[in-house]
Amino acid sequence: MTVGQWGIKVPKSKGESFRRYLLGSGEWCPNLKPIADGDFLVFPIVSDEITLPDELGCDYDIGRYEFESRERGREPARHELIGGIAIMQDDDREEAEYLLKSRPSIHTVLHCESPVFGEYRIKKFKVLAGRDTTRTNYIEYNNRFTIDLAVAYFSARLANERQRILGLMKEGERVLDMFTGVGPFPIALSKKASVIYAGDINPGAVELLCENLRINRADNVIPMLADALDLGGYLAPHSFDRIIMNLPMTSTAFLKTAFSLAKTGGVIHYYTLQSEKGEMLPVLRGFTSGRIDEKIVRSYSPTQHHAVYDIVCE
Ligand code: SAM
Repeated sequence: MTVGQWGIKVPKSKGESFRRYLLGSGEWCPNLKPIADGDFLVFPIVSDEITLPDELGCDYDIGRYEFESRERGREPARHELIGGIAIMQDDDREEAEYLLKSRPSIHTVLHCESPVFGEYRIKKFKVLAGRDTTRTNYIEYNNRFTIDLAVAYFSARLANERQRILGLMKEGERVLDMFTGVGPFPIALSKKASVIYAGDINPGAVELLCENLRINRADNVIPMLADALDLGGYLAPHSFDRIIMNLPMTSTAFLKTAFSLAKTGGVIHYYTLQSEKGEMLPVLRGFTSGRIDEKIVRSYSPTQHHAVYDIVCE
């Protein structure tokens, strides 16, 4: 059986590096077989919105391909996979049971019943099949996470973005993550940082963060149950080389605090949802005359995209 899916075409000589990267970042479709095409290989990928590290080079092409499925029988319904949990858009128990049977790594199938809501940025879920839980284990670039989708926000889609920031860091940096969730940024960055302060307003997120710090032995990360607006008071006179602001809908309100805590020459990574490129530049220019680089992380809806501004504080 063949399945239409996004594929990335790379020279055979670079096949192994791409294969390792795609597997590690969760971009790979494990149920589909790669295609050999002359001097090229085509790897099946989850989506065409893919961020690749510079060291892989720009010698690739993304398009639609017909891949051979590794499985017998029909394809299960479309779903997003996070660790052992599959999330289906449709409220369909029969499809959920089929999905559960056809993927041995899945322990639970959920239906997402709401968009992201509230201060904690979580969603409502209903269990369709398998174990009655919203909790699972997830591996991202060799880092292990316990997550609970009903308790705290988590998205695997920023996996490559976290590696990009790690690539920008120098050894020994002091880092602040103002909206840390269960800790994917600090745990990814802890390898290079001297210290990372990681805060969230959601007690459930901070509890999972503490567990994840323990699992990953990230001893240089300091967890904080805190409203980011209060961080100026708690952390002054600490000042940071790098600050992560990943609260895309509303983080503008926290820019003043972030700039007050950044060193001169420090960098703020400011994530936002916007309709137009450069939309936030006028606001950011009110805070710094330093260099500002903007990058699209992924598309979010037909009219909006998720962007990151890398801002040098001057
Ligand atoms: N950085 C994490 C990640 O990439 O998975 C989580 C990002 S999530 C979009 C935003 C987080 O900000 C949520 O965990 C939410 O609880 C937290 N949050 C919302 N308002 C906050 C505030 N005023 N102070 C601190 N954290 C806040």
